[in-house]
Amino acid sequence: MADKDKTNIVILGSTGSIGQQTLEVIDKHPDIFRVVGLAARDEINILREQIEHYHPLAVAITDQDAYKRLSSTTRPGMKIMQGLEGLCEIASLPEADTVLVAVSGAVGIKPTLAAIAAQKRIALANKETLVAAGDIVMQQIKQNGVSLIPVDSEHSAIFQCINGETEYLKKIWLTASGGPFREFSLNDLQKVTVDMALKHPNWKMGPKITIDSATLMNKGLEVIEAHHLFNVDYNQIEVLVQRESVIHSMVELVDGSFLAHLGAADMRIPIQYALTYPGRMESPAQSLDFFGLTSIHFEKPDMQKFPALSLAYYAGNTGGTMPAVMNAANEVAVNSFMQGKISFTTIANIVEKVMEKHNLIKIPVLEDIFQADEWARQTCKQLIEKEANK
Ligand code: NDP
Ligand code: MG
Repeated sequence: MADKDKTNIVILGSTGSIGQQTLEVIDKHPDIFRVVGLAARDEINILREQIEHYHPLAVAITDQDAYKRLSSTTRPGMKIMQGLEGLCEIASLPEADTVLVAVSGAVGIKPTLAAIAAQKRIALANKETLVAAGDIVMQQIKQNGVSLIPVDSEHSAIFQCINGETEYLKKIWLTASGGPFREFSLNDLQKVTVDMALKHPNWKMGPKITIDSATLMNKGLEVIEAHHLFNVDYNQIEVLVQRESVIHSMVELVDGSFLAHLGAADMRIPIQYALTYPGRMESPAQSLDFFGLTSIHFEKPDMQKFPALSLAYYAGNTGGTMPAVMNAANEVAVNSFMQGKISFTTIANIVEKVMEKHNLIKIPVLEDIFQADEWARQTCKQLIEKEANK
C-alpha cells in the first residue's frame, strides 16, 4: 500500500549510482519517504536486495532474460513489469507521487513522458531525455502543470539560485571540474585508456557519465539541459572550469550580482532537495570544509582539446533533431570506447561525423526524435565498423 502521509517514490534506475544514492537519502528519512516502485535493466541481484528491503508495490525490468529470472523469485503481491512498456507503466503507477528518473541514456524519454502524463512530480537526473526531447518534455510539463525538479548538481544549483525568478537573469555560469584530463595535451589524450577515463577526480558516478565527464560531452549535454530547464538562450550559458567542484554553478543577474551554490561534491544533496522541494531536511552528506580548502581556481574550457563541448553548443543552437542525433551517437561511441573498439579522441570525432550526415528536422514531433535517434545509432555503428576495418 502507498502511505498517504509519506511521499511515495518510484525510482527508475534504482540499481545505478544515482538510484542507490536516492535510496540512501530515503533510508535517512523513512518517516517521510516510501519506495513504491523500482526499475532497472538487468542488475537483478541488486534489485532483489532492494525488493527485500523496501517492499515496493511494483518493479520493472527491461531486459527480457533478467525479467524471467526475477519472476521466479519474487515477493507475493508485488507486480513485475517488463520492457520499455513496463518502465512507462511503473512511471505512471497510481500510488506514486514522485518519479525519480535516473536511468542512463535516451531510454528515459518515454517513461518520463508517461510520468508527466500521469501528473507525477518529476525529479530528473537523466539529462539525455532533456537533450534529445527537451522542447516536447518541457511543453508537456507546462501542459500538465507538473513540477520538474532537476537532480543534476549544476542544475539543482541554478534552480536554487534562480528560485523561480527569471526576470533579472543575465547569464548562467555552468561550472565544470574539467575532468581527469584537463591538463593533458592532444597527444596525451590520444593515449587515454578506459581505466584512466573511468577515474573522475571529484565525483563517483556511473560509467557512461564518467566517460562523458572526461570528454566534456557531459558539460555539453548540461548546456542543452540548462537551456530547456531555465528557458535561456545558448549565448546566456557560459561554461566555467572550477576544478575543485565546490561551486556547483552560478547565476549572474542584470545588476551585476552573482548568486552561487556551494556544497560538498555529494549527489545526495541535490537528490534530497529534489525530493523535499520546496522544503529542506538534514542530509547524510558531509558539510563543506572551508578550512581544508586552500583555493578555488577558475578557467575557460579548452574546446579545441575537448571538441564535444563545442559540438553540443552547435547541436543546441541548431535545435530540432540535432541534439537527439548527437546524444544517440555519443551513447554508441562511449559504449564502443568502453569495449575497446575506438580510442578516446575518436568519440567526439565520430559523433561529429554522424551530425554532419544528418538531415535535420527543424520542428520534430516525438516520432521524428525517435527516428533520428535510431538513425544516429545505426550510422554511428557503421562508422565505427569502418574505422575498425581501416
Ligand atoms: P548508472 O550507470 O550508475 O545507472 C544507470 C541506471 O539505469 C541503472 O539502474 C540501470 O540498470 C538503469 N538502466 C540503464 N538502461 C536501462 C534501460 N534500458 N532500462 C531500464 N533501466 C536502465 O548511471 P548513473 O546513476 O550515474 O546516471 C543515471 C543518470 O543520471 C544519467 O542520465 C546521468 O547522466 C545522470 N546523472 C548522474 C550523476 C551521477 O553522479 N551519477 C550526476 C548527474 C546526472 P542496470 O543496473 O540494471 O543496468
Ligand atoms: Mg552535472
